[in-house]
Amino acid sequence: MKAARWYKAKDIRVEDVPEPAVAPGRVKIKVAWTGICGSDLHEYVAGPIFVPVGAPHPLSHEQAPIIMGHEFSGTVTEIGAGVTRVAPGDRVVVEPILACGHCAACRSGKYNLCDSLGFHGLSGGGGGFATCTVVDERMVHRMPEGLSFEQGALVEPAAVAVHAVRLSSLKVGGTAAVFGAGPIGLLIVEALRAAGAAAIHVVELSAQRRAKAAELGATSVIDPSQEDAVARLRELTGGGVDVAYEVTGVPAVLRQCIDSTHFEGETVIVSIWEKDASFQPNTVVLKERVVKGIIAYRDIFPAVMQLMTRGYFSADRLVTKRIRLDDIVEEGFEALVREKQHIKILVESPA
Ligand SMILES: [Zn+2]
Ligand SMILES: [Zn+2]
Repeated sequence: MKAARWYKAKDIRVEDVPEPAVAPGRVKIKVAWTGICGSDLHEYVAGPIFVPVGAPHPLSHEQAPIIMGHEFSGTVTEIGAGVTRVAPGDRVVVEPILACGHCAACRSGKYNLCDSLGFHGLSGGGGGFATCTVVDERMVHRMPEGLSFEQGALVEPAAVAVHAVRLSSLKVGGTAAVFGAGPIGLLIVEALRAAGAAAIHVVELSAQRRAKAAELGATSVIDPSQEDAVARLRELTGGGVDVAYEVTGVPAVLRQCIDSTHFEGETVIVSIWEKDASFQPNTVVLKERVVKGIIAYRDIFPAVMQLMTRGYFSADRLVTKRIRLDDIVEEGFEALVREKQHIKILVESPA
């Protein structure tokens, strides 16, 4: 079968690989559509970050070259012995978290905090940029009627956004700032709308992304190259927002997030970082503020799909390009590096 494999930064190859075989407790899926994620782009531009190199991942037992793609939907074609949750023909999305099942975090149900955390499509063991793939039964979720496969490919990134808002202290009627309106930032805007935020302020350099944020529910958009975003947010909210979401990974922005919250306000760090980010701890201490991080999601895929059936996180508004697997480097990764107007590029799996 065909698959896109990561060899090293700037070296992703579409090539023929052996088709994976189903095994007991496992499910084989013919992939339909797979999204290119910001973390895929990081691996392409500056990896390895999550891709195991030099030693195999403890759960997938594989190392580079690995098949990429962790945001995908498809159809079950075969099930292994003992599988009961799905049957051949079912339309599904895959929750791509690899977790050990026995560390302290896993034992308390917080599998996204597993000591050996990995992702199907980043950490080895197969992925969505392929004709088909095989995953554990627990990773598979049946799609509700009426959701398209393209919509299904957006469940994974939308789950990050819903998890970020759900783990934050935001309450209905509260105020929020989102720093960075890339794909995840935009999905957070929608998750905030679903959560009943009274005001959603978006800080973003790109005019196209600010316009999209406004379309998706931002109540105001701020261009930080034109004005002091922190001063503006304080003015708009009479002293600061309840919760700021950091979705840029740019060190100087973390400080701005903290400063834009009111006393006892909260900053939620959603980005994955390439380098250190500093802030003066007194900005947290003297206002009894909170700074917390979130990673991925847990126990939320079915709820995200329910929100999608109600019109949230619509593929029609978020997908800016659809390409074939053969074109993934030029029309996918290189296009995302080159053209800032893209939100989500979806890759159609070959037959
Ligand atoms: Zn992703
Ligand atoms: Zn674990």
